[in-house]
Amino acid sequence: MQKRYHKQFLILLILNYCLFSAGYGQINEQYSIKTVVIDAGHGGRDQGTSGKKAKEKDIALAIALKLGTYIEEYLPEVKVIYTRTTDVFIPLNERADIANRNNADLFISVHLNGNKDTRAYGTETYAMGLHKTKGNLEVAKIENSAILFEEDYSTNYEGFDPQSAESYIIFSFLQNTFLEQSLNYASFIENEFETRALRKSRGVKQAGFLVLWKTTMPSVLIEAGFLTNPREERYLTSKDGQEYIASAIYRAFKNYKVAIEEKSKFVAKIDSSRIISQTDSIRFKVQIASSGNSISKKSEFFKGFENIEEFKINNNFKYTVGSSSDFEKIVAYKKIIEENFPDAFIIAVDKSGKIIPLSEALKLINN
Ligand SMILES: [Zn+2]
Repeated sequence: MQKRYHKQFLILLILNYCLFSAGYGQINEQYSIKTVVIDAGHGGRDQGTSGKKAKEKDIALAIALKLGTYIEEYLPEVKVIYTRTTDVFIPLNERADIANRNNADLFISVHLNGNKDTRAYGTETYAMGLHKTKGNLEVAKIENSAILFEEDYSTNYEGFDPQSAESYIIFSFLQNTFLEQSLNYASFIENEFETRALRKSRGVKQAGFLVLWKTTMPSVLIEAGFLTNPREERYLTSKDGQEYIASAIYRAFKNYKVAIEEKSKFVAKIDSSRIISQTDSIRFKVQIASSGNSISKKSEFFKGFENIEEFKINNNFKYTVGSSSDFEKIVAYKKIIEENFPDAFIIAVDKSGKIIPLSEALKLINN
């Protein structure tokens, strides 16, 4: 029995090696940030929030253009794409589409905050996710109300009602593949705001912003200050203030770029699977369990298997092992897994980390 276990373990080790390294051997280029999409919030008939004089759409555009100029000047290897460079209305889903179509490596949405309490001030940077506080939900509600200026918003956003708290529940089911990187960049930004631009940082947060919903790359939404606060409005309206804010976002971008590219060099040496997962559209995995409750990856239930990945769908947790873009390899892997988990089966996951029907995945890879 003991011997058999060893043999099985060895086969698993070899297979794991194949699935996580050899299968991805064709990748020899290291990941680098090539394209950034800068999204100035609102525009045209959608003015966003406003202060005594300043309109959000104008301040957001001024900061976005300055940010793009800094990137073009100091990091000429990076392509800058704007969702708008003039005072025009652009639907939220179109903004995400622009980033997806251009295979952007990062999406930066620039906004200004507003609050009934005119004393509120400071900066906050958001990644997509479920809000943890009512305040964060309120910010998302206000920003998402931009879709009310769109003609077909109920069809374009799958019936989403920006004003109803219930609508935001969908974000708790979201599989956010790029959350870690988004939070990482967000924290670089808030750090620069605080230490260099000397703003009050209200921190890195999460909430369900429609503009970030469908992007397929790390994405953040910046609230660069409150236009409803008279002092902050003066700062954000001034040339100096806008330059400080834009250069803080620029420096955060440069630091993030260096960090990501260094990490990619390191990862490329030891395990190229993580890089591949960004370029490969479909991955196959072996599902070994599903449960109504979250199970610790260290639980005995998983019989010592490592590389357990958890997927949360509605109120169900699914657990998988292995990962390959090669369907035949995962079929071989499943046969081994079946010795421990007789009911194991193969599932497919798309680029955004969402489980898709196997038949659809096979059709896609055979095209
Ligand atoms: Zn806004």
